[in-house]
Amino acid sequence: MAEVARMARVGRAVVTGWRRALPGFPDPVAGSDVHPRFDRRAVAAWLLAHDKLTVPHTLATAVLSVTAAGVDALRIRPADPELRLADDVDGTDRVSGWTEPADAEALARASGAAWGMTVRRLAVPGFGAVAVTGDVRVSEHTASAGGVFVELSWPARVRGRADSASGIVRHALAHAPGEGCPCARHACGGIVPASWCAEHGATASPVMEWHPGGGIRCAELTQDREGALTASP
Ligand SMILES: [Zn+2]
Ligand SMILES: [Zn+2]
Repeated sequence: MAEVARMARVGRAVVTGWRRALPGFPDPVAGSDVHPRFDRRAVAAWLLAHDKLTVPHTLATAVLSVTAAGVDALRIRPADPELRLADDVDGTDRVSGWTEPADAEALARASGAAWGMTVRRLAVPGFGAVAVTGDVRVSEHTASAGGVFVELSWPARVRGRADSASGIVRHALAHAPGEGCPCARHACGGIVPASWCAEHGATASPVMEWHPGGGIRCAELTQDREGALTASP
C-alpha cells in the first residue's frame, strides 16, 4: 500500500479510499488483510486507467552512471528516487525513480546487453554512493503521460561502495597473506592486490575469493573478524 501511494504520490489513506470506492482496483496477490501485496503491473495499469499516475513535481533526484557491453555509457538523473538495499547477501537490491522516455529506452537497451549493466556510481540522497559490478537489469518500466517509472535491480552480493574515481574497488581474500606483502589491507581481511606484490600480484587472482569493497559480503566478513577478535582471550 505504501508503494502504491508512493507511485501515485498521494497519502496511503487515499489509496485505501480508492480501493473501497472505485471499481476494479486489483485484488491482492499475496500478503494478509493488514499487509496486502499487489501485482505492480496490475496496479500501474489501474492507476494509469484512472488518471492517478502523474509525473512527479519533485525535488530529489539521484545520479546514476551505468555502462554495458556494446552500449554508450549513460548518465541520468532519476527523479523521486527510492533505493532499497537487501540486508542479506542472497537478497536483491532495487532502485526506482522517474526518467525521461529517452533515458528509459537507453536503460532498457543497456539492460539487454550481455551480463546486464554495471553501475559505476549511484548516488541517492540519504545513502552513500554505491556501485554494482554487473548483472543490473531493468525490472520495471511503466510509461505514463510525461515520464517513465523505472526500477533497476541486481543481486545484493555484487553491490559495493562507489569509489570516487574508479567505480568499485574489489577486495580479494588471500588464502595465505605472506610476509612483506605490500597490498592494501581492509577490515574484512581482504586486500587490494598490488601488481608488484610477489604473492598476490596479477598472477594470483584465480586463487582468491573476490568481493566488492564496502558491500554486504565485505560487511559480513568484517563482522565475523571483529566477533572472532573479541571472542579470543
Ligand atoms: Zn600482497
Ligand atoms: Zn572487503
